[in-house]
Amino acid sequence: MGDRSPDRGSREARERPELRVVGAIIDSEGALPGEVRLGRSGRVLERGSRGTLGPLLPSERKVHGIALPWSVDGHTHLGDSVWTQEPPKIPFHQVVAPPHGLKHRVLAASSPSEKVEAMHRSLQTMASLGTSATLDFREEGLGGVRLLRRASKGTLVEPIIFGRPADPLSRKELRTLLAEADGLGLSAIRDLPLGAAELARQEVKRAGKRLALHASESVWEPIDPVLDLKPFLLVHLCHATGDDLDAVREAKVPVAVCPRSNALYERFPPIAQLERRGIPILLGTDNVMFQSPDLFREMEFAYLSARARGEPVEPRTLVEAAFVTPWKVLGRPRSARLEVGSPGRALVLRLPPEDPYYQVAARSAHRHLLVPGSSASEA
Ligand SMILES: [Zn+2]
Repeated sequence: MGDRSPDRGSREARERPELRVVGAIIDSEGALPGEVRLGRSGRVLERGSRGTLGPLLPSERKVHGIALPWSVDGHTHLGDSVWTQEPPKIPFHQVVAPPHGLKHRVLAASSPSEKVEAMHRSLQTMASLGTSATLDFREEGLGGVRLLRRASKGTLVEPIIFGRPADPLSRKELRTLLAEADGLGLSAIRDLPLGAAELARQEVKRAGKRLALHASESVWEPIDPVLDLKPFLLVHLCHATGDDLDAVREAKVPVAVCPRSNALYERFPPIAQLERRGIPILLGTDNVMFQSPDLFREMEFAYLSARARGEPVEPRTLVEAAFVTPWKVLGRPRSARLEVGSPGRALVLRLPPEDPYYQVAARSAHRHLLVPGSSASEA
């Protein structure tokens, strides 16, 4: 689709125009100067190059800025929303390892309604920041999956739920879980009893769903047994070697990185190495108990910390990891395209259009953000 001439849609054109964004448009096609007319929901009613959309309509407000598709959080543990204090300075496994780590004790001690309310609040935060889906690792078996589905009601965020069985060696539980979850989200292979990973692979395949898992987060793990599981997504890879990453590229597996969460435990994901290899990168805000589910802060931290380590990454890589790549990985590329008729909605950052990827990755603050439709409820 060209960006030279205005492009009008029939169905979408009936939505009342509310916002005219003049500046730059970032989507799956790249970053281009231009302008868009948005409806109340943030859907694109018209798009053109600058100065081609005619005079402002009476219902329209004009803003200068950068239009982007809504984002996808590549990795969360929303269940952690029940406990949001500074994590104690104890070893990592004492905080997150099942079944006796701090987070699992907190989850066990919280009532279902407390968990639903806390997860709902996190999802509302995400929606207010223009995140419309999250790939969530949900602990607590089938019950955990159901609580998150309940928590998402009335929000604009779609949880894509990778459930975790209480007993990873129970084929029966895996089948019940996979009947409702979107896939399985496993802790690292090294945390699983012998045979559990292979059983998970078989059952995910049988159910036609997706397997995601943590790998090489706190220590190096061999990559071959991980890739043998045919994962849909790997998370972390902080300790992966160059050869491991070559194998990940060969296997065409995308990787979610969580730089803020890793930094708390003196780790760093290999973002520049993934970028160099062209491996699809997603950005995840990880445990809500550690930090807010805010991809803008994640992008800024990723950018700055990568430079501080002498392993700089392109702002474009980080922006695409939040707003474009996950939609492609999920098989919904049109949600990352801002054109008339696209299912994707737009958000706006009131920032200068020059060097738009850098503006978004490193210069954006909440006060710059406009999210049309985010106050609306889908309930
Ligand atoms: Zn995780």
